[in-house]
Amino acid sequence: MLNTLLETLSALVFPAECEICGVAVDPHPPLGVCQKCQWEVKLILPPHCVSCGRTLMGNMPKCAECQTESFAFDRAFACAVYEGTMRQLIHAYKFQNRKYLKHYFIRMMLAFIHSHLAASDFDIILPVPMDRGRRSERGFNQSELISSAIAKYFKISHSVENLVRLQGGQIQSQLEKKQRKLNVKNAFLVRKADTFHSRRLLLIDDILTTGYTASECARCLKKSGAARVTVLALARGVN
Ligand SMILES: [Zn+2]
Ligand SMILES: [Zn+2]
Repeated sequence: MLNTLLETLSALVFPAECEICGVAVDPHPPLGVCQKCQWEVKLILPPHCVSCGRTLMGNMPKCAECQTESFAFDRAFACAVYEGTMRQLIHAYKFQNRKYLKHYFIRMMLAFIHSHLAASDFDIILPVPMDRGRRSERGFNQSELISSAIAKYFKISHSVENLVRLQGGQIQSQLEKKQRKLNVKNAFLVRKADTFHSRRLLLIDDILTTGYTASECARCLKKSGAARVTVLALARGVN
């Protein structure tokens, strides 16, 4: 009886069907995406642009977009391209409350770190914060669920309350590129600068599009004395 109840409850949290195509999937590990749909996700492979992490096409160290932009972070990376299956998965995770998809995203990020970064290069991991209103509306910060698991896995300190996003401003994805920079200007605040002083930070984001939000976070973190800010996002928007 108890076992049946537990099975029913666990099926609610970790459904046995692929989020994208509906085929049966093994709930252990509870990824919620079948192997075939995972293959549809387009990973971002090296060589990476030294600034924003896009795959480079030529011999230049920076991509064409970064020739005219400067960011406050030292480097940024994204695991996959924000299109097709990856876009559907992020939408389901953020807007349809499919929280269990975090397991799939965590695994993707861990694989990226193992392949392209070194966990020993970071002292603190933190998520891009949401403002309080939006966070309570959604019930969770999608980046924080991932950053806390990454920090735990590598036994690196995790910071959630120290970089905060001030109330107000519009949703970045609803704005034109030009307005996005202004919309995030001074949107973040560090409560205790000591915590980040001389530290090497890994900032976890969900989607990198213009890079302005991550850059504004980095500017704020650097003002608080952070030695280095590296950004790692789940996906890179095609802009
Ligand atoms: Zn599938
Ligand atoms: Zn670039």
